[in-house]
Amino acid sequence: MRIYIIAVGDELLSGRILDYNTHWVAKRLSGIGFTVVGASMVPDDKGEIVEAVRRALSKADLVIITGGLGPTPGDVTIEALAEALNQNLILNEEALRMVERRYMDLYELGHVREPGAGGERAKMALLPEGGKPVFNEVGVAPGVVVKKNGKLIVALPGVPSEMMYLLEKVIPLLEKPEAMYQSVEDFIDEGDESLVALALKEVMNELPDVFIKTYPSGFGGKVRMKVIASTKARGREDAEAKLRKAITLLKEKVAKRKAEAPS
Ligand code: ATP
Ligand code: MG
Repeated sequence: MRIYIIAVGDELLSGRILDYNTHWVAKRLSGIGFTVVGASMVPDDKGEIVEAVRRALSKADLVIITGGLGPTPGDVTIEALAEALNQNLILNEEALRMVERRYMDLYELGHVREPGAGGERAKMALLPEGGKPVFNEVGVAPGVVVKKNGKLIVALPGVPSEMMYLLEKVIPLLEKPEAMYQSVEDFIDEGDESLVALALKEVMNELPDVFIKTYPSGFGGKVRMKVIASTKARGREDAEAKLRKAITLLKEKVAKRKAEAPS
């Protein structure tokens, strides 16, 4: 599967923000056997995005776009995607429920003044017709997956933590490269990434063919760590046993470090 990456954002072109997303997507997908054939960086401009998407579709089977999914008028990626595919932009009920759910979470945590997905917020539930939303448990704007003429287009939020999280959810939807990519998800009740990171390093040294990534999920004091362990393997069962072992090992090491940490 040939992949093309498009990073959208004025701040990338002005140099205010370093384009981390292209690097991450390229590294992650190349690492599991896909071939990234090109990448481009475009401003938050509808016409430029349309052009970039069409060009990318002429070169690849999968196009990954990051940035510009938010509620502000400057975020035009999804509008541009619909135009590039000659599809209508419609309110997707499933996406609307996702946006509502996230605003309810944020409201209950005191991060926003009111719940609901009205006004500008509803913009995040507009999808190209036939597109599928991907729930964003880290931020609000759902990711978007659209199939067209045998090709797949995936739009992810620009915030790197959200982009990485949603990318992991999208990977299982992709056609598998030669060796099967397998992954297992779990949670650790520990919010301190630095403590987890040290344990993670040890596990990956002990089990070098397992890749583990942690993602803080939730806000404020309720942070939990989502853990996604992945590996390349032929059979599902072998892979799962290996991945479970890695996660158990990680949990043991985190518990040990917690017990040893000065209180
Ligand atoms: P939001 O809902 O937060 O508006 P969004 O999908 O609209 O999400 P953007 O508005 O494009 O995302 O970007 C949000 C933030 O994410 C930017 O301020 C920038 O800091 C960061 N960001 C966006 N694209 C990239 C990138 N390619 N590399 C690194 N950081 C990025
Ligand atoms: Mg934005």
